[in-house]
Amino acid sequence: MNYNKKTVKDVDVKGKKVLLRCDFNVPQDKVTGEITSDKRIVAALPTIQYLLDNGAAIIACSHLGKPKNGPEAKFSLAPVAKRLGELVGKEVIMAKDVAGEDAKAKAAALKPGEILLLENTRFEKGETKNDPALAKAMADLVGPDGIFVSDAFGSVHRAHASTAGVAAYLPAVSGFLIKKELDFLGGAIGNPKRPLVAILGGAKVSSKIGVINNLLEIADTIIIGGGMSYTFSKALGGTVGTSLLEEDWLDYSKEMVQKAKDKGVKFLLPVDTVVGDKFAADAESKVVKASEIPDGWMGLDIGPETVKLYCDAVADAGTVIWNGPMGVFEFPRFAVGTKAVAEALSKTSAVTVIGGGDSAAAVEQLGYADKMSHISTGGGASLEFLEGKELPGVACLLDA
Ligand code: AMP
Repeated sequence: MNYNKKTVKDVDVKGKKVLLRCDFNVPQDKVTGEITSDKRIVAALPTIQYLLDNGAAIIACSHLGKPKNGPEAKFSLAPVAKRLGELVGKEVIMAKDVAGEDAKAKAAALKPGEILLLENTRFEKGETKNDPALAKAMADLVGPDGIFVSDAFGSVHRAHASTAGVAAYLPAVSGFLIKKELDFLGGAIGNPKRPLVAILGGAKVSSKIGVINNLLEIADTIIIGGGMSYTFSKALGGTVGTSLLEEDWLDYSKEMVQKAKDKGVKFLLPVDTVVGDKFAADAESKVVKASEIPDGWMGLDIGPETVKLYCDAVADAGTVIWNGPMGVFEFPRFAVGTKAVAEALSKTSAVTVIGGGDSAAAVEQLGYADKMSHISTGGGASLEFLEGKELPGVACLLDA
């Protein structure tokens, strides 16, 4: 896939209307509906400010939550319009629909320097079905000279009307958020500074199969931690007690270890593990050999020898990609391995790219966020990126 895409800087936006797909899927208080973190709105500001400064009129859109049956007040983007207005310091006009009469009228009247926010794109059934009629109706809002700017990285793995469909009708370029994601994620797997070390953790082998498979073609070293390491242990003849185990993936795990050998990729598995007598924050715990977990005990974190092994591998890396915690980091007693890896990444001179989701949250919680080269804003999207899949919301953008 080509990650080198045109950006807002490669097109003339002056006097034009721009349909801007953002990720305004913000967390909200269940009772009051108040936005509990405006991080995603703040993240969209550089592109919004650039467009305003360069004379564009912005028609912004996003999904919010998962409305199933059309418009529902609790999924309205109105609170986002208010917060965005406060952040940009100007009124954000709110449309009552996505591409209906109200949106059409307000879009037609919009002037350069103004911002219109459409209602939740998922209020339209055609959004998730990538219905060409909806895509065309949204594209029509910006008129014949209009431009589509995509800046919602968290949604690029979805072929929806507002993430990919509209690009069939408008010149499509990326905003600054997507540009940064493509530079770092694309750079890490497309043209990495070597050695490239991939650290993969999390609960299940089954959810990371595509990633392991693809990275075996690219990485110099693959490091496995977290719940999925026990399926590998068992496949290689170890005992795993009551640890997370995916019986259906034993053969696959063995194959992956063999594939790594054949390709000369270092494949590191835990040598020791911290086990607990139950899945609980206050579980009794001890360190055992990773291949000899006693009956009645479950692996909940990587052990101290493994921490050392993994941190050494990171220290010499040119590029590190990390996706998934090393243990049940939600329980402080079993967060040691995940913390140690985060700290090692904060100290290495390697380019460090953190996949979204739990590893990103761990790095942020621990205060290492500004020490990483890049923390992806898209969990699912970054995973599909690492799987080498074509992302519809990226593929639809004009090549640079
Ligand atoms: P994922 O969404 O696949 O990245 O998995 C993240 C989840 O994996 C976190 O909630 C962790 O608590 C969980 N996890 C990591 N290690 C283990 C383990 N050894 N046993 C059970 N769950 C784990």
